Amino acid sequence: MTKSEALYERAVKCIPGGVNSPVRAFGSVGETPRFIEKANGAWIYDADGNAYLDFIGSWGPMILGHNHPEVLESVMEAVKGGLSFGAATEREVLMAELICDMVPSIGMVRMVNSGTEAVMSAIRTARGFTGRNKIVKFTGCYHGHTDAMLVKAGSGVMTQGIPDSAGVPAGCTQDTLSAAYNNLSSVEVLFEENKNEIAAVIVEPVAANMGVVPPAKGFLEGLRKLCTREGALLIFDEVITGFRLAPDGAQGYFGIQPDLTTFGKIIGGGMPVGAYGGSKEIMSMVAPVGPVYQAGTLSGNPVAMAAGLAQLTMLKENPRIYQELNAMGDWFYSEIETILREAGAPWQVNHTGSLGCVFFTEQPVVDYASAKTSDVGKYRDYFKYMLHHGIYLAPSQFEAMFLSAAHKKEELEEMLDVLRGYMHR
Ligand SMILES: *Cc1c(COP(=O)(O)O)cnc(C)c1O
Repeated sequence: MTKSEALYERAVKCIPGGVNSPVRAFGSVGETPRFIEKANGAWIYDADGNAYLDFIGSWGPMILGHNHPEVLESVMEAVKGGLSFGAATEREVLMAELICDMVPSIGMVRMVNSGTEAVMSAIRTARGFTGRNKIVKFTGCYHGHTDAMLVKAGSGVMTQGIPDSAGVPAGCTQDTLSAAYNNLSSVEVLFEENKNEIAAVIVEPVAANMGVVPPAKGFLEGLRKLCTREGALLIFDEVITGFRLAPDGAQGYFGIQPDLTTFGKIIGGGMPVGAYGGSKEIMSMVAPVGPVYQAGTLSGNPVAMAAGLAQLTMLKENPRIYQELNAMGDWFYSEIETILREAGAPWQVNHTGSLGCVFFTEQPVVDYASAKTSDVGKYRDYFKYMLHHGIYLAPSQFEAMFLSAAHKKEELEEMLDVLRGYMHR
């Protein structure tokens, strides 16, 4: 028995499914989760001493690679001063100034502890601001596990085959309307049927929780126009895309300004952090200034802020990172496509910048329905082979691959060689 297997055996006895987030379970790929001991750069190492080239990067946060010395140093410095005060600190001001500076649509920002919390709070703010209750989301988009958003959600919900979730009363989701990703007319219909009732449309500007599905040309522009016309707010859930595609996120990358934005993952540099922000007018709805209540004992935690500040500062000061990452993504995913084509495989490779994935279907994947046509049995085979050859991919078809600034071309070539081996096995 390996150490990972032994740990898993103990874990399942005291943690549901042996994991603290369903996405970490290896059930859908028929493997035992690898227990990770440490990581460095583009590599992670399990309890048995196996090295893997990591394409998850903690699901996005490690955009500069694992164990970046400047992030670590900033954290160590903060730790020496104490772990938490539950009082205002300078780092929170620096963080808010930095985010407002990097993302033009944000005039004010509130820090929270996770992406889930950011989305929950942004939705409450949108409802408070508009005085309306209904929210439009897209089938297959994941916005955290808050009750109102567990409707046709992607990610773990999709992998586990849970249609919705038990424990969510119908009353919590009755104001959540679902539209089809990349389908503007499905949104228009909802606006017609719910005149003056829709508070906000929330969208992943690049869907990355049903595999990766880029927005079709005109889709985000269309949402912007519809929301403005109908008096609803447009919320970009940039928990994955924020600070990944550009210093100003997907909104900068595509040139569309949302009314509210949610962040998570990268913004914490590996620590549990989320944030939501928008114009001063909208964010002035939030307590203690406005009537929308939202709070957090550990929000703006000094150690978490130190990690996030160090990472965001490096990203801001080195915008070339984005040109390089996006160019590397273009090259890497087109190489994958070439390998598949040369082997005669008709599968789909979707990507935007450094985010991408392979779908085992012959149909172009543009939304949830087409993503679901992927043969998950084929994904399982591919995942297993890659894992056993030192390549750590998401243990689910319906997740993204994440590249980091620490992935060198030689390392990506290594992955491509393993993929060639798989295609010709
Ligand atoms: C991960 C994710 C969330 C939830 O963030 P947590 O920190 O896991 O709560 C929300 N929205 C999107 C787009 C995500 O990818």
